[in-house]
Amino acid sequence: MKPATKYIHAGSHPDPSTGAIMTPIYQTSTYVQEAPARHKGFEYARSQNPTRTALEEAFAIIENGKYGLAFSSGVGATDAVIKLLNAGDEVVCGNDMYGGTYRLFTKVFSRLGIIFKFIDTTKPANVEQAISNKTKLVWLETPTNPLMNVSDIAAIAAITRPKNILLAVDNTFASPALQNPLDLGADIVMHSVTKYLGGHSDVIQGALMMNDAELREKLYFIQKSCGAVPGPMDCFLVLRGIKTLGVRMKAHCENGRIIAQWLRSHPKVAKVYWPGFEGHPGHAVAKKQMKDFGGMLSFELKNDNIEEAKRVLSSTHLFSLAESLGGVESLINHPASMTHASIPREERMKNGLTDGLIRLSVGIEDADDLIEDLNKAIG
Ligand SMILES: *Cc1c(COP(=O)(O)O)cnc(C)c1O
Repeated sequence: MKPATKYIHAGSHPDPSTGAIMTPIYQTSTYVQEAPARHKGFEYARSQNPTRTALEEAFAIIENGKYGLAFSSGVGATDAVIKLLNAGDEVVCGNDMYGGTYRLFTKVFSRLGIIFKFIDTTKPANVEQAISNKTKLVWLETPTNPLMNVSDIAAIAAITRPKNILLAVDNTFASPALQNPLDLGADIVMHSVTKYLGGHSDVIQGALMMNDAELREKLYFIQKSCGAVPGPMDCFLVLRGIKTLGVRMKAHCENGRIIAQWLRSHPKVAKVYWPGFEGHPGHAVAKKQMKDFGGMLSFELKNDNIEEAKRVLSSTHLFSLAESLGGVESLINHPASMTHASIPREERMKNGLTDGLIRLSVGIEDADDLIEDLNKAIG
């Protein structure tokens, strides 16, 4: 089945009791049993909920995986992956990642004895070099938030697989419409569903997708034992969001391309980070592993100081100043003081995340209106 069809039908079955075409919101905490331990597969809603089951089926299908699991947030999903490990185990991960992931790794799991090595994963040889006999997991984000760095998933899977090291990929920025890490050899895909999968800035949710049954059992055990499960209403909203993923991503990519090119030609703009440019260091890999380049981009002004960046950030009208991304409406964000404020300045600067960097989540409004808005703000 082609992706556009999958997005409409994945996880959708007429409701067995009424034939309702849309999955009902099973707003219940428990299920009546016929006799002790005799039930229809549903005992307690932290462990099972039919709305969530439908969504988890959809998650698996849209990432070409066998299994999907839904979590109450993206970091809740990441948290479950790290809980596969034991104290003393090592994780090799990228040095440019979502600030909340960095905070979870360095402030929570480091304390519990898990060791994180932050490296430049855009060169697979660096990953090979960083792996030791204690390494149990490689955590990749590609493209990265906010610098749009690209790592070669297939090349890194070729390093981890023979060593029995798990490879997990945060696929939030690309969405399943542009990149499918399981097909490239990853063991686990993670999504902040809050972003492109939900697509309408009205829900916080996370997802994990995988192919291995044993891995699915371990992650399901963590999901129900630790309890970061989404409510049925949120699952319903995401089931609805996924139906338009194909058309939304086409529009995001089209607008992203137009805005990236327009910004690059603007006399006051110094640099645009967008993997669709041939000069982007990750362009060749992005072209190989992604279907298109998405609606996320960052840029720096020639007048690179925090005051000038703040002036632009406060002057747009269609681009709302807000954290998050991936909704139909355009957002503008200042990583240094907002999404990435939890990364120490020195660390940020080392990786090229400057004080003046501005990140855009390009929505699906008319591109002419978006350009006019940015043009007035940049001045
Ligand atoms: C937002 C985001 C997360 C965290 O997801 P939440 O749903 O906010 O918990 C993780 N990774 C990336 C790339 C993100 O953009």
